[in-house]
Amino acid sequence: MLKLNTMEEKLNKIKTDYFLNINQAKTLKELDELFLALFGKNGVITLLPKEFGKLPMEELQKIGPLFNQTKHELDNAIENRRQAVREESYAKLTTEKYDLGTAEIKPRHGHLHPTTQFIQETVDLFEKLGFQQFDAPQIDTDEYNFGLLNIPEGHPARDLWDTLYIDPQKTGYSPGELLLRTHTSNAQVRIMRDFTPPIRMMSIGRCYRYENLDARHEHTFEQFELVYIDKGVSMTNLQYLSEYFLQNTVGKDIKVRLRPKYYPFVEPGVGIDGLCIFCHGQGCKVCGGTGWLEVAGAGMIHPTVLKNGGINPEIYSGIAWGPGVGRIMMLKYGFDDIRELLKGDLKFLEKF
Ligand SMILES: [Zn+2]
Repeated sequence: MLKLNTMEEKLNKIKTDYFLNINQAKTLKELDELFLALFGKNGVITLLPKEFGKLPMEELQKIGPLFNQTKHELDNAIENRRQAVREESYAKLTTEKYDLGTAEIKPRHGHLHPTTQFIQETVDLFEKLGFQQFDAPQIDTDEYNFGLLNIPEGHPARDLWDTLYIDPQKTGYSPGELLLRTHTSNAQVRIMRDFTPPIRMMSIGRCYRYENLDARHEHTFEQFELVYIDKGVSMTNLQYLSEYFLQNTVGKDIKVRLRPKYYPFVEPGVGIDGLCIFCHGQGCKVCGGTGWLEVAGAGMIHPTVLKNGGINPEIYSGIAWGPGVGRIMMLKYGFDDIRELLKGDLKFLEKF
């Protein structure tokens, strides 16, 4: 037969041990664990009444109230300690002081990709002249990339752009209808349809071509498109914008030349060349032996393209101007292979 004093001792021992632990608990998590150890499914307080059945009725009448009281006291003790822990941590938060003067400031590692930096500088440069940014899709239709730009299907000029087409079986479009844009000029007609002259817009972004790769050609590259449409816009503006751009990015002493060149969406069309900084005009592998590096295609927007954009070519004229970002970066920073930009070689990138 279990003795009353044995049960009483047991209860007292639980009380003493747990009171000590509760009052020493420093965190709410510790208190939660103590609560479970007492009142959880297998907690000592939960299980204890199972032993009461072994007590005679007379003794049970004495141990019952004692048990209830102990249970109540432990429960209260946990709740009070919880409150105290909360108040302590709050007091710590409000009184703790940090000395920012002695805090170690670690140097930042890494920086934006040089192409991103260059694009931001270019955007700033042309915002000063009142140009606004416009975004056109990188996956686009043949119509916006070619058709509306006066390059209808079957036109031999399409050979100028080695185009990557999207698999028609995966898109539901007709074969040849959907492509990766070959130039940012796919923004041109969209800009004309969205805005009325005077228009000063720029569009910078990724373009894709199925290229034979070499020091000047990359399959994935950034292009920068300017569209400037107003009454009386002429080749003089084009000359000015080319010099403004190259002198502010590459350097004041960069030599720029406009060379007649055919593009179907401009008339007249020009290639804009910067004097090769690697050979100073002597001819090298970077410039393909010509002494000049072509940095942009440009010209007066073809009247047909203006009409396609809903603009009357009898009243307005416009410039379209599309330098390759990588080519100009080569001139500005003096690296001799455009493929460096996408390699992800940290030794190259940390120079910027
Ligand atoms: Zn050269």
